[in-house]
Amino acid sequence: MNIHEYQARDLLRGFGLPVPEHAVADTADAAAAAARRFGTTVVIKAQVHAGGRGKAGGVKLASSADEARQTAARILDLHIKGLPVRRLLVAPAQDIKNEIYVGITLDRRAERPVLMASREGGVDIEEVAARSPEKIIREHLDPVRGLQPFQARRVGLALADDPKHGMQIATICLQLARAFQGLDASLAEINPLVITPDGRVLALDAKINLDDNGLDRRTDLAALRDLDAEDPRERRAREKGLSYIQLDGDVACVVNGAGLAMATMDLVQHYGGKPANFLDIGGSSNPEKVTTALDIIQGDPNVRAILFNIFGGITRCDDVARGILTAIDKNPPKLPIVVRLAGTNDAEARRMLQGTVLESAVTMDEVVQKAIARARGVAQ
Ligand code: GDP
Ligand code: MN
Repeated sequence: MNIHEYQARDLLRGFGLPVPEHAVADTADAAAAAARRFGTTVVIKAQVHAGGRGKAGGVKLASSADEARQTAARILDLHIKGLPVRRLLVAPAQDIKNEIYVGITLDRRAERPVLMASREGGVDIEEVAARSPEKIIREHLDPVRGLQPFQARRVGLALADDPKHGMQIATICLQLARAFQGLDASLAEINPLVITPDGRVLALDAKINLDDNGLDRRTDLAALRDLDAEDPRERRAREKGLSYIQLDGDVACVVNGAGLAMATMDLVQHYGGKPANFLDIGGSSNPEKVTTALDIIQGDPNVRAILFNIFGGITRCDDVARGILTAIDKNPPKLPIVVRLAGTNDAEARRMLQGTVLESAVTMDEVVQKAIARARGVAQ
């Protein structure tokens, strides 16, 4: 789950990190009032679930309440990476000597979290990684013990010329590691962490992604979800217990199980098609889930064909077939649908689909190739 910068700032402050105070404003007038209250030059920042706001014009300085009002109005009119700006963060602007990057994420290959840091902060870390990978320092965190003080010092001292700043950064790394683990985060990033001309080290941006699997035991964190900031299709899918991620292809995939869904998407790509989505309907054959899945998929204007790839284990194929038939009975599909049901009761399931608008396939290769052909409007 993604949260906004102002929420991430509040959380990081709770772990002791040096985050300057801020206000949140939904209107230009509220931003002007906050600027007046701070009584100094402020930075006004779009609160959207996207990075690179600075480059997109979503981060601006304003030196008076009037300027803050005008700047805020302009930012509220922006769409950043397609997302409307509904809320702003207003904070006293800081003078910057150096911009540093520090972030912790999960290194799946190493099977543990990794702290990454660079003197080249402020810009996209992906850019630094591509252009000059030697400028990124990495320290893996022990999954039980967390980041060790000697590791934090190694990173801190490598990031600053003055060891006094290096030791401050080391403390920040330890605090960030505690935040990462304490929040069940999958990403905790400060970019930029700045050194000011008067020698303070401050976190001027905060990005935290929370692991969805941890939210059941942390209702306080789950409450941070901003429904308005989410993709409406992905939100509806989540509310119905489906995992859906929209992609930009034209072959929609409905699959049970995340691994099978990934394999199906790979196969679509392999045969020259482009998947329109990732969709895991889980272990259930509940017709409502299938109806919702079809609804969501057909709301995507790029989709030209739909494929079902269902592996029946405990889930019975005839139950799924019944689910699909109920769903299309209520809401006749506008697009070609190719169905592969394999496993428990698959013969009966295929019999049920005979004589319907649904096309059957036996193997995974077949369902994928047929769906790609339908998407291209070519009969096979
Ligand atoms: P992002 O582009 O979405 O990552 O947004 P950031 O919050 O990181 O802001 C982008 C850039 O704006 C930073 O890298 C800084 O260079 C600049 N910036 C942000 N806050 C301040 C501030 O308080 N003072 C100054 N001078 N620049 C700032
Ligand atoms: Mn940033």
